Amino acid sequence: MGKVARLVCMKCGAEYQPGRFITCPECGLEGILDVEFDYEEARRSLEKSPLDTRQELSMFRYLEILPLDDLPQDMLKVGWTPLYRFDRLSKTTDQPDLYLKDDTVNPSGSLKDRASAIGIAMAVAEGRSAIACASTGNAASSLAVLSASPGLSCYIFVPENIPAAKLYQIGACATRVFRVKGTYEDAFDVATDAIARWKWFNRNCAINPYLVEGKKTCSLEIYEQLGYKVPDWLVVSVGDGCIISGQYKAFKELRDLGEISRIPRLLGVQAEGASPIVDAFNSSTEVVPARAKTIADSIRVGKPRNWRKALRALRESQGAAIKVSDEEIVESMILLGHESGVFAEPAGAAGFAGFLKARKEGIIKRDECVVVIVTGSGLKDPTSLEGSIEVIDIATSENIEQYLSSNG
Ligand SMILES: *Cc1c(COP(=O)(O)O)cnc(C)c1O
Ligand SMILES: [Zn+2]
Repeated sequence: MGKVARLVCMKCGAEYQPGRFITCPECGLEGILDVEFDYEEARRSLEKSPLDTRQELSMFRYLEILPLDDLPQDMLKVGWTPLYRFDRLSKTTDQPDLYLKDDTVNPSGSLKDRASAIGIAMAVAEGRSAIACASTGNAASSLAVLSASPGLSCYIFVPENIPAAKLYQIGACATRVFRVKGTYEDAFDVATDAIARWKWFNRNCAINPYLVEGKKTCSLEIYEQLGYKVPDWLVVSVGDGCIISGQYKAFKELRDLGEISRIPRLLGVQAEGASPIVDAFNSSTEVVPARAKTIADSIRVGKPRNWRKALRALRESQGAAIKVSDEEIVESMILLGHESGVFAEPAGAAGFAGFLKARKEGIIKRDECVVVIVTGSGLKDPTSLEGSIEVIDIATSENIEQYLSSNG
């Protein structure tokens, strides 16, 4: 971690030497830390090895602004996911300059792999033998999937209502799965206790400041894949607020490094039934924890841990925040499926639903360049489409004829 210069508390502003704490010792769990690098050093490294000359086709292209000294060994390939622009989708949405960043194709099927990869690489570098986290599913399945090849023991805490596909993916790859009676918040609290007690490496993203650094690689890739350009809008679904904070940090650092002169506006999207960050942003208040209810389980977060960083990202990017209904999320899953073949889980399609709504409300303009991050795969929770897709039951091809004659 030679390049990490300091950790800064998001709450009280205190500065610390790297590596000593997970959260601010003065502020406790409220004191989420922000990682700052030696940007002079990083700038020199970029001059020596410009981005467009790099060979590494993974998230580890950007080692000088990641909390790692070397490329991790024995890791599945994370990042350098496709950035798509489809004529058809642009026509349907009447948004000529519309891009999808497809993070569903990461090893475990979600953007969370970018954070887990950092956690695992750091745990291995520190000589730890076990890593743990609490999660509504994706952070856990990602940790389980990626810790297998380097042979790290992996302890997972999930809430009761975790979708079956995620539970089985975790079960197949993790050392142990603990299903905690109650919600994500309950699982988080139990995990925090257990991690402290058995001294496991903590992969809880909202708490461990180094993991957001992995998430920022998504936007570093977007910048490169757009041909070293900055989009007008970057659209992100929001739960705890780590992904959106990471994207903001990526562009802020590119600006600090002299690569770009402006950062994109961030559009933060939450579900109507779980919208504490959107509500706080739109009413200029602090976050008020509330009960969370939405089909989008990966953003079903009533008490977001990283709300300070998320609100800063929205404010400092002159961004906007919007809520979408579960119906709008499901419609977006089907629209994305039909028009692009990118199959998103509800939280993965929520960003797209937010884009459609922001466009309709005039927040996003037709001539603007928009990148929507698709954060997770539909295979994670396919039953969310129950009752929403059309299945034609037949026994023989005769039935098709009957169907066609009555439906045209
Ligand atoms: C975790 C997750 C999110 C939200 O990310 P936060 O960092 O919690 O805001 C969105 N989509 C998917 C698929 C996720 O797994
Ligand atoms: Zn503090």
